[in-house]
Amino acid sequence: MSIQLLSDLVVAQIAAGEVVERPASVVKELVENALDAGAKSVHVEATEGGQKLIRVSDDGSGISLDDVEYAFARHATSKLASVEDLNTIRTLGFRGEALASIASVSRLTATTRSRGEDVGTQLTIHGGEVMNHRHVGAPAGTVIAVENLFFNTPARLKFLKAESTEKRHITTVVTRYAMAYPNVRFTLVQDSREVFRSAGRGQLADVVVKVMGLDVFKQMIEVDSEDPLPRFGGAVQVNGYVSEPDLNRNDRSRMTLFVNGRVVQDGGLNHAVSQAYHQLAVKGRHPYAVLMIDVPTEFVDVNVHPTKAEVRFQDQNAVFVAVQRAVRSALLNVQNAYRVHTQSNYEPRQESRAHWSDSPEQLGMDLPSASKGRFPEPDLSFADLDDDDIAIPEGVGQPVKPRTLPVLRVVGQIGATYIIAEGPAGMYLVDQHTAHQRILYQTLLDALESGDEFSVELPEIQTIDLLSPQARLLEANLTVLNNIGFEIEPFGNNTYAIRRIPYLLEKHRLIDVIAAFMTDFQGETEIEDLIKRVAEQAAIRAGQVLSPEDMQQLIRQLERCPSPQTSPYGQATIIHMTAEQIAYQFRH
Ligand code: ADP
Ligand code: MG
Repeated sequence: MSIQLLSDLVVAQIAAGEVVERPASVVKELVENALDAGAKSVHVEATEGGQKLIRVSDDGSGISLDDVEYAFARHATSKLASVEDLNTIRTLGFRGEALASIASVSRLTATTRSRGEDVGTQLTIHGGEVMNHRHVGAPAGTVIAVENLFFNTPARLKFLKAESTEKRHITTVVTRYAMAYPNVRFTLVQDSREVFRSAGRGQLADVVVKVMGLDVFKQMIEVDSEDPLPRFGGAVQVNGYVSEPDLNRNDRSRMTLFVNGRVVQDGGLNHAVSQAYHQLAVKGRHPYAVLMIDVPTEFVDVNVHPTKAEVRFQDQNAVFVAVQRAVRSALLNVQNAYRVHTQSNYEPRQESRAHWSDSPEQLGMDLPSASKGRFPEPDLSFADLDDDDIAIPEGVGQPVKPRTLPVLRVVGQIGATYIIAEGPAGMYLVDQHTAHQRILYQTLLDALESGDEFSVELPEIQTIDLLSPQARLLEANLTVLNNIGFEIEPFGNNTYAIRRIPYLLEKHRLIDVIAAFMTDFQGETEIEDLIKRVAEQAAIRAGQVLSPEDMQQLIRQLERCPSPQTSPYGQATIIHMTAEQIAYQFRH
């Protein structure tokens, strides 16, 4: 084939692959446009998880007659004229790609009237081709209806998840923007049912209650602080809500961070929030958070990624520190208030909100400390939990430490997190996540030693974009990564192409996998460290319900590991109570 310039349609469809990954991305782009147009009210409708229909209506500025066709051209935007404008960008959009991309992979109808004009326009585009363009009467504002998304890109269509998953993603997008813009009224209707509505009265708290529910909101703490930016001028403002330390989850799905009104997925910022809970909450758990981080526009680069989910700050560290400090001080204020109450005979919370996947202390379990010959009262205050307390309180389970495990019989699962088993020497409580880490780590070590293949080829080559410091780290560790089953190649400009990955990580999002490795990379990273990380990533999570067969299988495999008592990171996998210890608890 000779070299040819790609047609506009093909270019748009390729770009659509970046911008519109799924129905929720269409919702995101259309909602952002509505907000940029100054809408006070945004109404979103979706049918069949957005695949049949997505309709976003707003009462914003509308698009004038002369501009309508431009709006659908690639790289056409009213929000940016020069590269310098990027420094001071205040709108959510600026790339001028979304409408053209969406129109190239759907049947789209735009109905719009500019506030200053008497007549509106209706434009119909099918798969990038303008079908109809006529004048219509319409209220001021814009309605964009997107039908049959991906009808002409079957490959995309195939990758759509179950309808329920797509519906959930759409709800997430709308509720997040509702929180970021409390003065805009949002409604979301899915399959003719109203699933969300915000009042638009400007109160973040109102919206957070709507999104998270009153029960959760009652356990949230307000964050409101401002830190001057050293050297740069201006300040980092952090506002919003974070959960009390004992309300937490084992994933980050309830952490929503906004930078200058834009939802961002930033590992560093998320980490800053989690770090603020250091020694207040159990390690490895993540809080609920809704935080608005505002910085001077010149201080942040939003043009890092097509979906604009990543941002770059002129001084990353200053922002992380400000966020961490803001959350920390909010948490400590509340803690101090709690202590004062306790001293003045205030009845402290006796029933700790037990989360099954938390440490035994938090479960209110009075586990014996046989090594000290006494049985301490459970300490329910979160303040004393140390970093390493996650799996095993000091002394508990120490006395009996067989080199390998006896044959165990699975009794059941608690809280979808721990497996209870019975053996000749009493009861065993197995943490499914740390135990599975040990098993996978051993499997990988064995495979490495025997030279077994443990990498798979991805169905299609994937690329990831990194920030340049991360790219340098990755670059320095390509060899060791390739030794553990990755096949990664530089693809220019901080982008990497990935062909193969360890099979255990097949189902994982690549960017998450790579992000997890970032914490391990050092001057000369040991292969063992990376294998540990693979095991940790691939291991069954807390909260996953296991069948009796699965549990039995897991226990069998654990029995065969050389050091079944700890995870590769040294966390306990098993708490053992002898029959005597149990009897003592009942004082028989
Ligand atoms: P961008 O938002 O990056 O500018 P889009 O492709 O999303 O690119 O939109 C192109 C242009 O169409 C916008 O710059 C804006 O002028 C116009 N536009 C899109 N949606 C709306 C809307 N809901 N209300 C008013 N103008 C809109
Ligand atoms: Mg846009």
